[in-house]
Amino acid sequence: MSAIWSPTKADRELGRAVRNLDAVGVRTPCVSSPDGGAWLSENPRQRAKAAGRCHGCPVFADCDAAATAGRVVFGVWAGRDRTIRRRKKKDKKPGNQRKLTTERTER
Ligand code: SF4
Repeated sequence: MSAIWSPTKADRELGRAVRNLDAVGVRTPCVSSPDGGAWLSENPRQRAKAAGRCHGCPVFADCDAAATAGRVVFGVWAGRDRTIRRRKKKDKKPGNQRKLTTERTER
């Protein structure tokens, strides 16, 4: 039986960087913030706000690398909302087939 998710090398490096920070009492904004759920919120406005708070994060580059390597499709990672939104139902009408592709939200 195969695992559903297995960490990439970038995930392990991000984990190591976060643990190193934690060892000296520093936490990333997504962990230390009282509204840490905003990074994974269903609400795009909350995610946009969270994305703005990533800048200056000490593990920003590692976070970006992990998100890229893992091809994440939800939530804010390294200042970018990586959530892929599906087009609305009306786009499924004939003639709108090209619009059925997913789009990635960018900040
Ligand atoms: S860069 Fe990554 S680890 Fe840092 S606050 Fe943003 S989401 Fe969290």
